[in-house]
Amino acid sequence: MDTLQGKIAFVQGGSRGIGAAIVKRLAHEGAAVAFTYAASAEQAEKTVTEITSAGGKAIAIQADSNHASAVQTALRQAVEHFGGLDILVNNAGVLAWGPLEELTLEDLDRTLAVNVRSVFIACQEAAKHMNEGGRIINIGSVNADRVPMAGGAIYAMSKSALVGLTKGMARDLGPRSITVNNVQPGPVDTEMNPADGEGASQLQALMAVQRYGKAEEIASFVTYLAGPDAGYITGASLTIDGGFSA
Ligand code: NDP
Repeated sequence: MDTLQGKIAFVQGGSRGIGAAIVKRLAHEGAAVAFTYAASAEQAEKTVTEITSAGGKAIAIQADSNHASAVQTALRQAVEHFGGLDILVNNAGVLAWGPLEELTLEDLDRTLAVNVRSVFIACQEAAKHMNEGGRIINIGSVNADRVPMAGGAIYAMSKSALVGLTKGMARDLGPRSITVNNVQPGPVDTEMNPADGEGASQLQALMAVQRYGKAEEIASFVTYLAGPDAGYITGASLTIDGGFSA
């Protein structure tokens, strides 16, 4: 309940799905949490109200991860508001999925901008403000390791990029005892990938534990990595997928 008491967190993309679960769990553990959203203002405000009415601290900032300056400004705003930064979670992500001949240049550019470029930008800005012993956690995907069906070339490429980015940044920031890790979920029941959606049963059949993951299960793992017990884990891509890649 208080493993993150006194810590300040910034979650990029925290209005829905896995991001919202991470925001709530970090706040539940005592962190003051700033998070961004692009379109889902109502859901973002609902999360803020839920946290603050339970005695926690949270603010929502509108910032489209597609735009570098919006990410930098949001991060600076959060640091100013709460007076520092200990934890950065890069969760914002988009899914472009389809036959190779139908994927567009716009799909490619948007996916790389949101899933990769915004992560680099947020990490670079966060590094200027982050306290010693800070934590950076990127949300990748098991698709960096395994793409068991057609259509995922662009998405898998974007999530594979986070594996290298995470290793490089772990080296850059290790001397300040800041850890950088990449959490790779398997299929998780959210609006991006509903457990009752088209193709879901095909995915489910590939898992050892034959069900979709819950956003709260990913949030729990992220919270562990953000906490005091995880100070010696860095540069790692850690899969949480119900055995999808086993
Ligand atoms: P959802 O589509 O349910 O939620 C996406 C979140 O990211 C929303 O809060 C959304 O905010 C935010 N977001 C998207 N684009 C932007 C943007 N341009 N700027 C700011 N915020 C943005 O997705 P999930 O919760 O399922 O996914 C979260 C992360 O987990 C992603 O990185 C995804 O790739 C990854 N992942 C998901 C898996 C799954 O099966 N669900 C599996 C493996 C990885 P808003 O609504 O305000 O735009």
